[in-house]
Amino acid sequence: MSATPEHITRGKLYTISAPSGAGKTSLVSALIESTQQVRVSVSHTTRTMRPGEQDGVNYHFVAHTQFQSMLAEQAFLEHAEVFGNYYGTSQAWVEQTLDAGDDVILEIDWQGALQIKHQMPETIAIFIMPPSKATLKERLTNRGQDDETVINKRMAEAVSEMSHYEQGDYLVINDDFNTALDDLKAIIRSARLALEPQKQRYQALLEDLLR
Ligand code: 5GP
Repeated sequence: MSATPEHITRGKLYTISAPSGAGKTSLVSALIESTQQVRVSVSHTTRTMRPGEQDGVNYHFVAHTQFQSMLAEQAFLEHAEVFGNYYGTSQAWVEQTLDAGDDVILEIDWQGALQIKHQMPETIAIFIMPPSKATLKERLTNRGQDDETVINKRMAEAVSEMSHYEQGDYLVINDDFNTALDDLKAIIRSARLALEPQKQRYQALLEDLLR
């Protein structure tokens, strides 16, 4: 007989923060594809869509007025202004997904991660960093297409985000992609093995074993 979990346990909430150029989005996509019961929240934003992005997939792209009315309705679990645009996480979606037993990842900046940690202290906060300043600069440069001012601005924004790394519970360095992916999987796996969720999952088994 194999032990199958008897109860759905509430999912765990994770925030993943990183400067742009750290490879966060690719890592999170690979994580979602390779791990069961993990979902990523699609934020609302007022920023304009970039080429290749899809509404409802990368973000819910909304007008300022809609963002403001959602704020007034307290639809957001957290929100922040990042580089002149507004971003927010849907409270209803996160709660429903956690209740259904799935883990939820919020790809948000340090301000959002801080708000979430205050409201839900059991949240696991992860920071992803690039392996060197040179690599970061290379990743932030569109082969000869950006001038020095644009690149310097991106570098300054990245340094500003990275300066909050001590807020995190875990720090992952994305040098080798697969190693960084394994690191993220290990964090999720160890959280799932923690005593409390395991006790809930295997309540009947534990009672039987101890009888
Ligand atoms: P981008 O516009 O380049 O996709 O994202 C800019 C920054 O906003 C990134 O640091 C990203 O993590 C952050 N961000 C995206 N969605 C949210 C959100 O819902 N809340 C917060 N606080 N930050 C977000």
